[in-house]
Amino acid sequence: KPMVSIRGLTKTYGRNGRAVTALKDISLSIRHGEFVALLGPSGVGKSTLLRCLNHLVPPTSGDVVIGGENLAKLSKRQLLAARTRIGMIFQESNLIGRLPVITNVLCGRLATLGALRALTYSFPRDDYDRAVRALRRAGLDDEELYLRRADRLSGGQKQRVGIARMLVQQPDLVLADEPIASLDVKMQATIMDLIRGIARDDGITVVMSLHQLQVARAYATRIIALSAGGVAFDGPPGDLSDSI
Ligand code: ADP
Ligand code: ADP
Repeated sequence: KPMVSIRGLTKTYGRNGRAVTALKDISLSIRHGEFVALLGPSGVGKSTLLRCLNHLVPPTSGDVVIGGENLAKLSKRQLLAARTRIGMIFQESNLIGRLPVITNVLCGRLATLGALRALTYSFPRDDYDRAVRALRRAGLDDEELYLRRADRLSGGQKQRVGIARMLVQQPDLVLADEPIASLDVKMQATIMDLIRGIARDDGITVVMSLHQLQVARAYATRIIALSAGGVAFDGPPGDLSDSI
């Protein structure tokens, strides 16, 4: 079965006569291990689509099926459990600036850890080790960094911590919303290499919104371009004409 299957997905924001339809009747499926780049102009619905894939944004209509589970049919608890297998990476990495790096990495596990224990630094050894492994995997080897406040890090380091926080959950699917948009060109390549490496090694499926066509071509196995009318292109990067 596919990793992601969406059918007739429609999302309308707002009500009372000033509704905005961000997605209209989108259907597609994504196989395990695909690296999908989601392209399209600002406001076309890339973010909305990514957020519908874990029901952070509940669809107005249509189905989202992840790994065979229809998210709309899950209880709240089941949805939370399903979400732990769906990692997210954001443009601004969304770290809690005042908390240490290591605490940020374990934030996704707070539901199981208990927020208080995490905040008082008394992590169970296993969780601490798991966080350190994730940080190393994300390219942060310097242990001195782990107890530093997240807001003291550079942009590239923050993005690595965001990736470590995602890895610690051992997701099958990663949704990345413009993860390189606020990085310089060199760091963009570094972070893209990192995400591609993780995806290949762990067999993780990636769906990533991007602005740069060239980056999408270089890294993605499949490009889905959205336009106001829906899906404007869906196929391998090689099939995309230069005019788009
Ligand atoms: P309402 O229910 O009052 O019509 P909306 O559903 O349009 O409000 O908006 C819900 C929330 O999203 C609001 O907090 C609003 O500030 C925010 N929001 C509104 N428009 C946008 C937009 N274009 N992009 C991102 N967020 C928005
Ligand atoms: P993209 O990620 O491609 O820039 P978005 O998914 O953020 O597109 O937005 C798609 C459309 O939905 C835009 O018209 C945007 O203004 C609108 N929108 C996004 N979020 C909200 C929101 N919370 N409330 C109201 N409108 C929104």
